Amino acid sequence: MLVVQKYGGTSVADAERIRHVAGRVVKRVRAGDQVVVVVSAMGNTTDELIDLALSITPEPDPRELDILLSTGEQMSIALVAMALRALGQEAVGLTGQQAGIYTRAQYGAGRIARVQADRVREELAKGRVPIIAGFQGITEDAEIVTLGRGASDTTAVALAVALGADRCENCKDVEGVYTADPRLVPTARRLTDITYEEMLELATQGSQVMHNRAVELASVYDLPILVTSSMVDDVPGTLIHGGPELEERNRVRGIAHDTDVAKITLRHVPDKPGIAADIFEPLAEHGVSVDTIVQNASERNLTDLTFTLSRKDLKRAESLMPEICERVGAAGFASDANLGKVSIVGVGIQTAQGYAARMFRTLSAAGINIELISTSEIRLTCIIDAERVVDAVRLLHDAFELETAEAQD
Ligand code: ASP
Ligand code: MG
Repeated sequence: MLVVQKYGGTSVADAERIRHVAGRVVKRVRAGDQVVVVVSAMGNTTDELIDLALSITPEPDPRELDILLSTGEQMSIALVAMALRALGQEAVGLTGQQAGIYTRAQYGAGRIARVQADRVREELAKGRVPIIAGFQGITEDAEIVTLGRGASDTTAVALAVALGADRCENCKDVEGVYTADPRLVPTARRLTDITYEEMLELATQGSQVMHNRAVELASVYDLPILVTSSMVDDVPGTLIHGGPELEERNRVRGIAHDTDVAKITLRHVPDKPGIAADIFEPLAEHGVSVDTIVQNASERNLTDLTFTLSRKDLKRAESLMPEICERVGAAGFASDANLGKVSIVGVGIQTAQGYAARMFRTLSAAGINIELISTSEIRLTCIIDAERVVDAVRLLHDAFELETAEAQD
């Protein structure tokens, strides 16, 4: 089979781990598979490069920052390719440009437009293992662009799609996708499989296992992803795939959490057309991305409007609020920086009885106040005090009996 294997920063953090990865790849090739490898930057290299740039200037030029950040992955490809060669396996490190990863220009947030995979195919045909730098691409006019934090997963899926690979394997320091973060919940269980849409919700709601754009892309092209261990051999992992029909399963599959939530409430906003646009346009223009939005039912044509955002964007958003309040005629605003969210995810849970009630009852029994609620067809999210997130995850994992394998798989 033809497989694209992606190794994250932890899996290539030092020389020993790089040699370990090389050993795994060689074993796989000798077993008869064709392997293309995508790597992230070693350990915390990307963070360190960002800090380095910030030590030069508080606002590094985005173009130059991308050139700098792309070197992290470039180190990894060279070292992994060397390690493979040292084991007697022909291998070739390829930058995003050499691998034909074409992106649309937006420094720091590039999107893959197309993959021109001829070079990668040629190298494979010569019996070499291509080792490709994740997280980077090139625009049509040869500018280096990075794809957003954590986006090496997306590079791997895009390559797998372009090559017509049988599947993408995301090799990590965990053994798969769990019912909840196993560091918080000792009874968390590895799932045998999960649907694209469930994984997408988990990824978007704070699970660190997969980059959400990678899942989205895999879902569009129906490319299976196996999340598996880079450390332990022969673990079954978790298969992310198209899955059964909607009605075949009605249960909570996993719990995601995120402790990085802030909120802003605008009070007494006149309830008339155009107000929401007046509020959210300036935020978007200043790069503040808003998550949940709740508008209260209006009384006497005045309404309260609350939205959540990442804590790192709060200062910027707050600095825009006085002007926004004045423009829309709101009485004022209040903000809270210390929130988090906890989500239950599972295909069919919205149409099945009792899930919402059980979630709310579980939280209230522990004295956890729900600040906001948001839902999708397969998800229920409660915004709560950041300090109670860990308790909430543990209690919900119990309440929905996620530790018992029979109930789930
Ligand atoms: N090295 C990049 C980051 O840390 C990309 C990745 O790891 O996927 O965000
Ligand atoms: Mg990384």
